[in-house]
Amino acid sequence: MKSHYRVVVIGGGVVGTSVLYHLAKFGWSDVCLIERSEFAAGSSWHAAGGIHALNADPNMAALQAYTIDLLSEVSQEAGVDINLHMTGGLTLAGTPDRWEWLQANYRIFQSIGIDDCALMSPEEAKKRAPLMSTDGVLGAMWADREGYLDTTSTVVAYATAARKRGAEVVLRNRVLELNQVPEGWQVVTEKGTVTCEHVVNAGGLWAKQLGRMAGIELPVSPLKHHYFVTDTVPELDAMDREMPMVVDLEGYTYTRQDQKGLLVGIYEVEHEHWAMDGAPWDYGMELFQEQTDRIENELICAFERYPALENVGIKTWVNGAFTFSPDGNPLVGPVRGKPGYWCACAVMAGFLQGGGVGKTLAEWMIHGETEADAWPMDVARYGAYAENKEYIRQTTGQFYSRRFVMTYPNEQLPAGRPLKMAPAHDAMTKAGARWGESWGLEVPIYFAPEGFEETPTLKRSNAFDLVAEEVKATREAVGLLDISGFSRYEVSGPNAEAWLDRVMACALPKPGRAKLAPMLSDSGRLKGDLTIFNWGDGSWWIMGSYYLREWHMRWFHDHMDPGVHLTDISDNAVGFSLSGPNSRKVLEKLTDGPIADLPFMGCGTFDIGMIRARVGRLSVTGELGYEINCTAAEHIALRRALLEAGADLGIREIGYNALGSLRLEKSFGIWSKEFTQIYTPGQTGMDRWIAWDKGEFIGRNAALAERDGNGPAQVIATLEIDAQDADASGYEPVWRDGKRVGFVTSGGYGHHVQKSIALAMIDRDCAEAGTDLTVHVVGAERTARVIAASPYDPTGKAMRL
Ligand SMILES: Cc1cc2nc3c(=O)[nH]c(=O)nc-3n(C[C@H](O)[C@H](O)[C@H](O)COP(=O)(O)OP(=O)(O)OC[C@H]3O[C@@H](n4cnc5c(N)ncnc54)[C@H](O)[C@@H]3O)c2cc1C
Repeated sequence: MKSHYRVVVIGGGVVGTSVLYHLAKFGWSDVCLIERSEFAAGSSWHAAGGIHALNADPNMAALQAYTIDLLSEVSQEAGVDINLHMTGGLTLAGTPDRWEWLQANYRIFQSIGIDDCALMSPEEAKKRAPLMSTDGVLGAMWADREGYLDTTSTVVAYATAARKRGAEVVLRNRVLELNQVPEGWQVVTEKGTVTCEHVVNAGGLWAKQLGRMAGIELPVSPLKHHYFVTDTVPELDAMDREMPMVVDLEGYTYTRQDQKGLLVGIYEVEHEHWAMDGAPWDYGMELFQEQTDRIENELICAFERYPALENVGIKTWVNGAFTFSPDGNPLVGPVRGKPGYWCACAVMAGFLQGGGVGKTLAEWMIHGETEADAWPMDVARYGAYAENKEYIRQTTGQFYSRRFVMTYPNEQLPAGRPLKMAPAHDAMTKAGARWGESWGLEVPIYFAPEGFEETPTLKRSNAFDLVAEEVKATREAVGLLDISGFSRYEVSGPNAEAWLDRVMACALPKPGRAKLAPMLSDSGRLKGDLTIFNWGDGSWWIMGSYYLREWHMRWFHDHMDPGVHLTDISDNAVGFSLSGPNSRKVLEKLTDGPIADLPFMGCGTFDIGMIRARVGRLSVTGELGYEINCTAAEHIALRRALLEAGADLGIREIGYNALGSLRLEKSFGIWSKEFTQIYTPGQTGMDRWIAWDKGEFIGRNAALAERDGNGPAQVIATLEIDAQDADASGYEPVWRDGKRVGFVTSGGYGHHVQKSIALAMIDRDCAEAGTDLTVHVVGAERTARVIAASPYDPTGKAMRL
């Protein structure tokens, strides 16, 4: 071990070795992995070794497909046999909704390039896996890219391939301490102290402690997990080929052949956490006693699905632990305020995700950004609220227990809620608010009469008419929306203006004005779809999506200048928006200030009732609208005042579902759908807000190159879909004459224009209005066509009233 490396990776499991391999492969060979014990000594050695590309989150599915395609390459490069068996696999559907979900997902996988799947009848599935009973099975999806491998050999293969490329490995050497030093990190180990520019936490079961060593509290916890392996099953012994992998979602089990026996893994509904503060340091390669009482129901399902199990003994039980984040996705990337500290932890399926995690992290460390959108696994998708142990317990437990349970897009899950509530929350609940959640905050999704229950569905729900009424009230009178779920950052100081001018690609608003502000990365890709307010008193606000708070703060922090004070004020600044033709009349009743003179995209301070509010004249609905910001202490009073003033003007409280419909009718994009960090201004139409002649700003050269080049291959277009009972929601494939030309970014019903609308990223030569297309909505092919953007009020007259 040398005294200095460019990178020290802590942890010799499948994730740490994959990070090491990818760093070396991409050109950083002054890298060293330090492992407490032996390779794979954490979760990795006792994993079931199953690999499959399918995942309900399309981004994770793409990551898994990359990992699987990489495995044989790594094995060959290392010269290590990983016992890779690509048997293919089946996912079973045991309810009509699940079957519909599987058909919908089959199409979504096509959108992300996983084409080697097929839907099949129970009879066809049975031919592929004769050992299973197909009782209750309504259909199945076959995937070629499934199989299993030997876990420890895979870890050794990654490490060996990395070593061949110049990386070092030090085993049996525990990291004891991490200290931030000017040149990076000082890593104190049992065998001496090392300094490095970058340190990677790939500590698996010990990730929590490796976070705490650097003053970071990661939202991660281990949970226990069972599988068992049977003695020889005569039916398998008699087969001339291997049985494929089978995931029985309704039965909570996954299976694969293990020699001539069957390996059955169980996602326990009655989950059990273990060592929430991280595994003990002296935890060796031991397992827990099996807890069959806890998994009785799942075992019954397994024996019903595989009747042959009645006649064979169980050879081995494995009850081990592995780690989960609140949403089950990995925690990857840099941490604000800890330069050179990188996370690669909470990887719950290291053998099928570890390759993708390694690639993503290595790209991030070397190039400063990743090829694919890393958001779904970015550690910055959580904030300080998620450090709480009870929050972690509830959310990780919920994810684990529901791993094989179907979650509907309109379903609200209870774990970790309610946590953050705007002050008027209870008053809104009394008024019928139904709640969704964003970054721990309760946000109203619609208002319903007492006793109304929304039915979980993949199609239009029974809340459809309620949302339609909220849209109608907004288009015809005035809608009131709690906008506490927007983020707000205050910027001041002598260099505030210069800094904003550098980090934003737009021209800055003049005093008393607001402006839509694209923010770009150095490579000219999007980093934000923000709004800037120049309050005219030397203070500025940046407003954006609430759930991106930590993500944006990390970016601002990394690109900060002296003389700038930046504060995230979102917990204390809240508010309501008014939108609709009567919204000005409501405000006029509450202020004697010149609110009528406030121009479109103007902003200023007004007395609204008794509240001194910061008001911006803009809306996401496409109507005349105002965003009225107040302190948290004034939130209840502001709501009361607005509701009273609007009583005879048709005011109605609305939720974010109505906002979704209203913004689609205007073809307004939103972050994570039409705007992501892998899209460019030209693709998304964000280029129209760029101030090309204002001088330097981050991403300018790359954006100019896009503008002056041949144009993007794909662009966002607005589609009208001939769908009667369901709408697109995202990632559905879009076809032209049988050729896939793109995918839906978001969709829904436009209640005012009475159309099923989708925004889609499609080939530019298909984006002309009038082009006939088809789209798979919940698995069924529907005709569709490109329409001109903004089917409601295309000239924008209503907003400028
Ligand atoms: C029963 C079971 C079945 C599973 N089946 C599958 C499956 O079929 N497919 C799949 O993909 N995944 C499966 N998993 C999950 C899989 O095991 C994990 O996702 C994976 O092992 C995580 O790898 P890791 O490298 O992040 O963590 P770990 O394997 O826990 O590795 C972390 C390493 O860091 C080292 N370390 C920690 N702290 C220090 C320190 N201070 N100094 C030095 N070294 C340190 C540890 O010794 C350890 O070796 C299963 C898990 C279980 C429990």
